[in-house]
Amino acid sequence: MDLFGKTVVITGSTSGIGLGIARGMASANANVVINGFGSTAEIEHEIAALEALGKGQVAYDPADMSKPDQIVAMIHAAEARFGSVDIVVNNAGIQTVEPVETFPPERWDLIIAINMNSAFHTTRAALPGMKKRGWGRIINISSAHGLVASPFKSAYVTAKHGITGFTKTVALETAQNGVTVNAICPGYVLTPLVEKQIPETAAARGITEEQVKRDVLLAAQWTKKFVTVEQLSGVALFLCSDAAENITGVSLPVDGGWTAA
Ligand code: NAD
Repeated sequence: MDLFGKTVVITGSTSGIGLGIARGMASANANVVINGFGSTAEIEHEIAALEALGKGQVAYDPADMSKPDQIVAMIHAAEARFGSVDIVVNNAGIQTVEPVETFPPERWDLIIAINMNSAFHTTRAALPGMKKRGWGRIINISSAHGLVASPFKSAYVTAKHGITGFTKTVALETAQNGVTVNAICPGYVLTPLVEKQIPETAAARGITEEQVKRDVLLAAQWTKKFVTVEQLSGVALFLCSDAAENITGVSLPVDGGWTAA
């Protein structure tokens, strides 16, 4: 796949799945805008590593995905620098594992803002340019939790189910404009986000961390394997290909059979 001349903005791409997708897009010669938190040294290192992968240029935008004005400014800055934003990957996400009665309201608001509302703001800002050029790809990194629930993740499951509805709606609105809008719904991937929730889940359920991995995380994944960031990057690239031109409005599980059961 060659995305030379196309520009992709990937939210939350200094780590985990977003960084994996950035590597895939850079390898396919796209210009890549990475975003997320991290030290200046780490980010400079990642930019150089990404630029070495392909023929595109790489930029970093520090926009906070809980701040709508910063999100819009990020899309406009990418358009100004590269001439277009052709692909948006809405990936930034955070998690809190807590029973609903004790769920901190400020964490609820932050999870809804970052995991759901930010996709509205990027999409709203990037769509006019995509429609004008007659080509665009919006890829929302949802979750198996966009299709089914687990206890103690009320804000996360709510936001991801919201993304499923948003994906379908914008797919219909853009269907005749050369733009596709899809969600990828991963099962568990061993990234910092998941590693952090292992002790939280152990505390919430009163079990050991080993039991969390075996009996909670991989219990629902029929392959008994974690999904990898490379696999998700491959799926994101496929959604950018001509073969995927008629795939729109889909929430595609990449979950080892979890949501089939
Ligand atoms: P991660 O913690 O490794 O990475 C999250 C990224 O988001 C980081 O780059 C971080 O800096 C960035 N980020 C966090 N808050 C931000 C903010 N306010 N503004 C900008 N950037 C911010 O997480 P991950 O596991 O790679 O998760 C990425 C996405 O994949 C999330 O939406 C998550 O819900 C989803 N997902 C993850 C898994 C999994 O098992 N890891 C499974 C399904 C879905």
